[in-house]
Amino acid sequence: MRKTMLTMSWDDGSIHDLRLADLLSKYNLASTFYIPKNNIEGIPVLPIREIKELSNNFEIGAHTINHTRLNTLPRDQTKYQIKGSKNWLEDLTGKSIYGFCYPGGRYDKNIIEDVKEAGFFYSRTIENFRNEISNLHEMPTTLQFFNHKNYVLLANILKSKNSFKKLSNYHPILKINTLIKKLEYILDYSINNNISYIHFWGHSWELDLYDQWDFMEDFFKILREREQLFSFKTNFQCAFEKSKDHF
Ligand SMILES: [Zn+2]
Repeated sequence: MRKTMLTMSWDDGSIHDLRLADLLSKYNLASTFYIPKNNIEGIPVLPIREIKELSNNFEIGAHTINHTRLNTLPRDQTKYQIKGSKNWLEDLTGKSIYGFCYPGGRYDKNIIEDVKEAGFFYSRTIENFRNEISNLHEMPTTLQFFNHKNYVLLANILKSKNSFKKLSNYHPILKINTLIKKLEYILDYSINNNISYIHFWGHSWELDLYDQWDFMEDFFKILREREQLFSFKTNFQCAFEKSKDHF
């Protein structure tokens, strides 16, 4: 039986990413970091030297130049935000950048076209409660590392495309109050149902703001304890596996 692929991604390239990277390295866990050049929302971005350091051990993905919502921009600026962020990161890291993440999860058909045209292999959304990649340019996630209230999660499910399937798979989560138990539920669910893909995502600046570092380490320990059940991958490795399977 194939192991469940488990990937994690971290958005915004905040100055707390290096602390997170140390913790991930301590437990030998793969991850992808999506980094904008600047952040107009005011969250400070890592200095270039540190982005380079991060790229030695983790996948780096693009997250636009300014962390702007792409669906609010004229088309030529959208193209610049997408292609410009790929060029910037490739120059800086000396490596190919395969992944893109839509700021705020905002995208439409034209934006997907622009991302493909810029040469990205895959792009990540913020859609929750998914366990399969049906489209490489709408790579979904399973849960955010953020303790959203259960009614927020429910509202999120109800307005999404696959709400029936999500509710039937994950309704027990809406009765669980702690984030760690929700995450454990997903791990158990995936193993019991022979699920191939789990994707958790978050922001290191939120880990810091909400003092979630101990929680994060506890969760990484849980992952290590179950290492025989999962293969820890970057987002690109998952996208690549899926492309081979003709998903
Ligand atoms: Zn972001």
